[in-house]
Amino acid sequence: KVRVRFAPSPTGPLHLGGVRTALYDYLFAKNQGGEFVLRIEDTDTARYVEGAEEYIEEALEWCGIIPDESPKKGGKFAPYRQSERRDIYDRYTEQILTTDYAYLAFDTPEELDAVRAEFEANGDVFSYDNKTRNHLRNSITLSEEEVQQLLDQKTPYVVRFKMPVDRTLNLEDIIRGHSSVNTNTLDDKVLVKNDGMPTYHFANIIDDHEMEISHVIRGEEWLPSLGLHTLLYEAMGWTAPQFAHLSLILKPDAASLINKDNIDSITKAFTEDFILKNNTYSFDEASVLIKSFFTEIKSPRFKSSLTENEKDDALTAAVKAFLKKSLSGKLSKRDGDKFGFPVFPLDFKDPATGNISKGYRENGYLPDAFINMVALLGWSPADDKEILTIEEMSKEFDLHKVHKAGARFSKEKSEWFNHQYMQTKSDEEILQMLKNTKVDISAASDEKLLRIIHLMKERATFPKDIYENGKFFFETPTSYDEKASKKAWNDETSTILEELSVQLESVDFTAEILKQEVHDFAENKGLGMGKVMMPLRLALVGELKGPDVPDILEILGKEESKARIHNAIN
Ligand code: GLU
Repeated sequence: KVRVRFAPSPTGPLHLGGVRTALYDYLFAKNQGGEFVLRIEDTDTARYVEGAEEYIEEALEWCGIIPDESPKKGGKFAPYRQSERRDIYDRYTEQILTTDYAYLAFDTPEELDAVRAEFEANGDVFSYDNKTRNHLRNSITLSEEEVQQLLDQKTPYVVRFKMPVDRTLNLEDIIRGHSSVNTNTLDDKVLVKNDGMPTYHFANIIDDHEMEISHVIRGEEWLPSLGLHTLLYEAMGWTAPQFAHLSLILKPDAASLINKDNIDSITKAFTEDFILKNNTYSFDEASVLIKSFFTEIKSPRFKSSLTENEKDDALTAAVKAFLKKSLSGKLSKRDGDKFGFPVFPLDFKDPATGNISKGYRENGYLPDAFINMVALLGWSPADDKEILTIEEMSKEFDLHKVHKAGARFSKEKSEWFNHQYMQTKSDEEILQMLKNTKVDISAASDEKLLRIIHLMKERATFPKDIYENGKFFFETPTSYDEKASKKAWNDETSTILEELSVQLESVDFTAEILKQEVHDFAENKGLGMGKVMMPLRLALVGELKGPDVPDILEILGKEESKARIHNAIN
């Protein structure tokens, strides 16, 4: 039976990478007719963030990634919160201590520091492993009586994994295939802390076993732990699940993100960051240089200069190195604020700082568009189809088709998906979404709003665009675009519009009739259509933008249209 789990730690909001892991877990489980479990890994109390668990649950729900078993829903392997499973871990701690795979370590932090210092003085890096454990204070080096005495005195200890000496481990991963690692490169990880709580590694494999997990799908950052986990299963005498490690989500292409509108704010953010690490330069100096880099970022010359090893002055070199690092590699949680796109599914208010990180939901993304975008960060269906519902995705999902290489996030692409999904929604659905935004549409009736939506939907990426691109439906223009006026208006224009206005007095205000009327009017006067349409548009909209003029006239209605023409003439 296929059973997969998503096992986040409540150390902060779920981010894009987490959503993708949960989604692939879900898609795989559904594809295989299996079950999808949400387990909260909260043994690290020091990193616990208030509200993070609720956030994770709400975010998954918004995405439509609904677990079959979870802390909220329960299930036959409850509880699903690690902090509530202490008795289970205690049992297995006892069990592993009867094997040759674990030992007690009594070293105090001071003792460990002293040994570390000794190593470092010799130019070595200290790690608690099969080479050093014989020099430390643990149940391997102490006699049984000494250990018992320490325990009787309630001396704090941790349980460590006893990494076997010089064994080659053969590891299998569904996405990455075969790899091997020698145990001499691995250390003796702590399995149980001195407060009796297991660490991630131990609790994780215990729960995966207890909860009968068949497949572990998780981020690439856990690949280095695979050797240890494999040995932990061996130590416990359990069969390990199958593993699939997902590649990173990479930062977006910088050139696509930096434009005239945001260059100043991005420069400021980068400069602040840079100055933090490099106080030899003044803010202004660094800022000018960084901005010049950003201005050039789209040119091929810039791209090659980033990789060239020129002899630059120190500041230029530092900025280049900084940019290179900042603009490549893993998408970080801070990139969202820097570049103006969300990296979290929902807004998240950090309880410590009060800062709000932007969420997809609050920024006008539709959940189905969002998960469609996320799904394709690292997987593509057989025919390279791009628009798929979650059901369609689960029918096609195949772990063997998940890409090994990192997937580059693209803001444009996520907006493209949203635009596509907006077109599939009914006018009524978009009306509801528009009402959930912060824009003030209270002046218009639902009937009028539906007509505006119908007309403006095609060009809208987000629900609020209906309002942003169609502001003139809600407000009479109070000024007229200067350039447009020069182009559209001349001495005769007032007279022309006056006459047109009189003619429109007696007609039915439907786009079709109005189109014909304006056309006939221009023809009778011997005027080109532009001579009539352009100033009319300017009068109604305030600039030379928007949908077809007859459509605008119809929605504004006779009174409002006349009033606007009148305003423009005077
Ligand atoms: N709690 C771990 C995390 O936060 C889970 C890793 C795993 O799936 O094994 O990512």
